Amino acid sequence: MNKKPLIILFLSVGVAVIFIYVSNNNPDLIKSSNNFKKLNSLLNKIYTNNEKNKEEKKNFNKKNKFNDLKDETSEKKENKKDKKEKTKDINEKKTNKNQTIENKQFEKKETKKTEEKKVTKNSDVKRVIKNDEENKENAKSVKDNIKDNSKERKLFENDDEVYDIIVVGAGLAGVTATYESYIKSKGKLKIVLLEKQKNFGGNSAKATSGINILNSPLQKAENVKDTYDLFFSDTIKSGKGRSVPDLVSTLVKDSVSVFDFFTNIKADLSKLGLLGGHSVPRTCRPSKATVGYHLTSTVYNTLMKSSSIIFSPNSTVIELIYDRKKRTVNGVKVLINGKEKILKSKAVILTCGGFGHDFDSKDSLLKEFVPNIMKFPTTNGPQTTGGGVKIARSIGADLVDMDQVQIHPTGYVDFKDRFSKNKILAPELLRGVGGILINQKGERFCNELGTRDYVTEKILNNCEKVPNTFNIDQYEAYLILNENSTIKFGPNIKFYINKGLFKKYNNFEDFAKTNKIDFKNLEKTILTYNNYAIKNEPDPFGKNVYPEQFNINQPVYVAVISPVIHYCMGGIKINKDTEVISIKRKKKRSFVINGLFAAGEVTGGVHGGNRLGGNSLLECAVFGRRAANSAIRYIENK
Ligand SMILES: Cc1cc2nc3c(=O)[nH]c(=O)nc-3n(C[C@H](O)[C@H](O)[C@H](O)COP(=O)(O)OP(=O)(O)OC[C@H]3O[C@@H](n4cnc5c(N)ncnc54)[C@H](O)[C@@H]3O)c2cc1C
Repeated sequence: MNKKPLIILFLSVGVAVIFIYVSNNNPDLIKSSNNFKKLNSLLNKIYTNNEKNKEEKKNFNKKNKFNDLKDETSEKKENKKDKKEKTKDINEKKTNKNQTIENKQFEKKETKKTEEKKVTKNSDVKRVIKNDEENKENAKSVKDNIKDNSKERKLFENDDEVYDIIVVGAGLAGVTATYESYIKSKGKLKIVLLEKQKNFGGNSAKATSGINILNSPLQKAENVKDTYDLFFSDTIKSGKGRSVPDLVSTLVKDSVSVFDFFTNIKADLSKLGLLGGHSVPRTCRPSKATVGYHLTSTVYNTLMKSSSIIFSPNSTVIELIYDRKKRTVNGVKVLINGKEKILKSKAVILTCGGFGHDFDSKDSLLKEFVPNIMKFPTTNGPQTTGGGVKIARSIGADLVDMDQVQIHPTGYVDFKDRFSKNKILAPELLRGVGGILINQKGERFCNELGTRDYVTEKILNNCEKVPNTFNIDQYEAYLILNENSTIKFGPNIKFYINKGLFKKYNNFEDFAKTNKIDFKNLEKTILTYNNYAIKNEPDPFGKNVYPEQFNINQPVYVAVISPVIHYCMGGIKINKDTEVISIKRKKKRSFVINGLFAAGEVTGGVHGGNRLGGNSLLECAVFGRRAANSAIRYIENK
């Protein structure tokens, strides 16, 4: 056992007893005891101070450490600041020379944001700042654009503001003219695109068959031998000698560059087809989308993304501002959301489309020029009332071929509204992929791949005109496709089937029974057709291309169709530079109206007496671009 603790205890008790005894008998010792206490408290103080000091030291050290850190941070900050200052200096220097890419991008983002805000504030005037990454050449500084935009914004309020180019109508011709103006002027011109509807598109957006292009990569890939002469003569032949050769020549020559024009902005033109009246396949279309909407929206979206163009929908141009003495157009009078406004400009391009729905207006062009077709249904949108033709005529523009209105042979009869004035087009391509036409007797009556006017005439002469109380001239025929043709037509066929415009029958007998057609007659018709196809010989109607044969026992898809007003070949007289020509007065020579250009269906002369399928979208692209270039030249030389 360890005795040490016991000994220490005894000794301590002993010392304590002696101390109590001595202190009770000796006061000095108490004093000394007090001193001792003092000493003790002093020692305590010292100890405490020491501890405090230690603590303080600890804290101090901590603080110091913190301060060090703080110093370090602030030093770093200072350094950073210095660096920043330096970078700023460099950047500023750079900016003075040419803004750094970062700054530009930032500015671009900011500007875009501001613009987006502006757009939501005023939904009628959409503008988008040009993107200098997409078009370096046109990349003036973003700041410039902001300045321009504020000016432009005022322009709708300020009657003294003068635009460079005003384009009227946002179908394919209009968006193409706008885009080309922007590209060719390197973004320097102030361009306004006015559209009377709330959206771009017009009838262009409805086009489904395709666009004709000479020597496209698709023709090359499929080894199609096409030439300028062949395309030119197909177009002239279809126009029945009425087309202006100079315009047709321009159409065909310029078509070569149209493929690149569209595919450069990422439009899809990957399918090739054969349409009626063409000697070889030259009609291009996208693989999935419908061609008209696809092309128009691709151009529209590109120009809205990459330019400072003003697109003003709900804006109907009602007059051209015309100086008769100087024979010069100086702008337009426009109703913007019903409010009248004068917009001045150096040049105006009319791209207002045709008049294929101008039935009811006081100055109806259909009534004036082709009263005999007033009872036909139409494929055209209700906006197609010839506004461009009317305003041009009112200042003396000459008009050509106004009585040449194309009746397309195949508008769908929708049995949900059988005698509707508005019909959906059954595109020519349906016959191009193998569709045949049958009348109520179960007989064929034409070469399905003939020109539109020919097929229409054959329908009018060989098919039943269905009596109705709606005052509609409706001549009905059956358009028949086999399964393979529907596949060749592509996925868009589903749209027509789902809408009930095409009905599927188990076989020809089923089709004949349901529609009260003499089956024996029908069977004979089909077998005869197959015979010509097998032998690949021309049939009595002159058909010599047979995309498909039919199996009498296999399913068929059948649509009821009727001829429809479709396209106005006539319109404003132009030359190949799209300048608008005035009427010849007495013996004086006609003249060009300064500052006025026109392109697309609003013009006449290209198609003469009958338009070839696929030539209208081409006309929009070719002459839309020409109009832009002519307008720019005109402004430069003014
Ligand atoms: C159903 C259908 C299918 C077709 N398929 C094909 C095809 O496959 N291939 C082919 O080549 N062609 C086809 N066409 C023809 C072709 O689509 C059009 O003729 C052509 O696109 C006309 O284009 P545009 O730009 O001249 O006129 P539109 O596309 O009609 O555009 C004119 C625009 O101007 C606007 N406008 C009119 N007046 C004024 C005014 N006063 N102020 C402001 N704006 C105004 C209109 O609202 C419209 O948006 C088809 C036509 C239709 C109807």
